[in-house]
Amino acid sequence: MKNYITIIGGGLAGTEAAYQIAKRGIKVKLYEMKPIKFSEAHVNKNLAEIVCSNSFKSNLLTNACGLLKEELRRLDSLLINIADKTSIPAGQALAVDREKFSKEVSEEIENNELIDVIHEEVTNIDKMIKEGIVIIATGPLTSEKLSREIAKLTGEDKLYFYDAAAPIVSKESINFEIAFYGDRYSQEKKKEESIDKWKKRLSNGEGKEQSYINLPMNKEEYEKFYKELIHAEVVNLHDFEKKEIFEGCMPIEIMAKRGIDTLRFGPLKPVGFDDPRTRKKTVCNCATKTR
Ligand SMILES: Cc1cc2nc3c(=O)[nH]c(=O)nc-3n(C[C@H](O)[C@H](O)[C@H](O)COP(=O)(O)OP(=O)(O)OC[C@H]3O[C@@H](n4cnc5c(N)ncnc54)[C@H](O)[C@@H]3O)c2cc1C
Repeated sequence: MKNYITIIGGGLAGTEAAYQIAKRGIKVKLYEMKPIKFSEAHVNKNLAEIVCSNSFKSNLLTNACGLLKEELRRLDSLLINIADKTSIPAGQALAVDREKFSKEVSEEIENNELIDVIHEEVTNIDKMIKEGIVIIATGPLTSEKLSREIAKLTGEDKLYFYDAAAPIVSKESINFEIAFYGDRYSQEKKKEESIDKWKKRLSNGEGKEQSYINLPMNKEEYEKFYKELIHAEVVNLHDFEKKEIFEGCMPIEIMAKRGIDTLRFGPLKPVGFDDPRTRKKTVCNCATKTR
């Protein structure tokens, strides 16, 4: 039996596991195939790369996501500590600067004397497993050869993953004559609030935290947006992507194709906001400020 633990995959799970094991005084060999080989979604050479949304969801202790993160903080999670350090404004959510986040995690892992990072694609696990403890943390985009190995080992022939990648909108492309910063709900006029009080509160800057950029639309604009969206050109699917839709993380155009009202009762619901130009409730498209 070797005197170290092997971890395959230096993503979010692999780096946290490596840190926790090393913290307990045990040596780690961490195999990461980047930058020698990249999956279809990974693009930078750092460890713990965030491939999609930079939001770790709510920080509130009144829901499961927030509670889980607080538990991780108390357990000295490397990733949550670095996420807190590299966070960017996102209202009640914990969102991170993805570049800084991965860079800091990489530095922490690479400078840890008990962790040996080996940049290599693991294609055979038989020998490793015979020699000691192995953690496979290669995520949803495990390389083809290793996937086959895992399938062989587990007897499973249906390993499969699907998800939608969130598009990143660059700030320069947004017209701030129309778009406005605002945190949903805190900017809304409260029921008992007089117009004067509400305006005063807004002029004091309340609710204008630069967390979210909102693009207001009236009925005609919404209908035009809807038509453009359902007829828009879409990305060509990779060979590894099956045309199945995961209801928990659905591409916006698929949602729109289910009916003209789907978006305005879903992610674009006109709740919690008033368009500062018209003072009317507005359908809003909210984007986390990432760049
Ligand atoms: C397109 C897409 C969109 C996603 N969107 C979201 C989202 O919005 N929110 C969310 O929570 N999750 C999202 N996910 C899921 C996301 O991948 C996980 O939340 C998270 O990255 C899982 O962490 P992980 O450590 O398991 O895997 P990863 O972070 O993917 O890390 C796995 C690592 O293993 C390496 N690796 C793979 N094969 C080998 C091998 N054979 N040898 C050595 N190294 C190898 C990879 O290079 C990678 O660095 C998305 C995934 C994809 C692909």
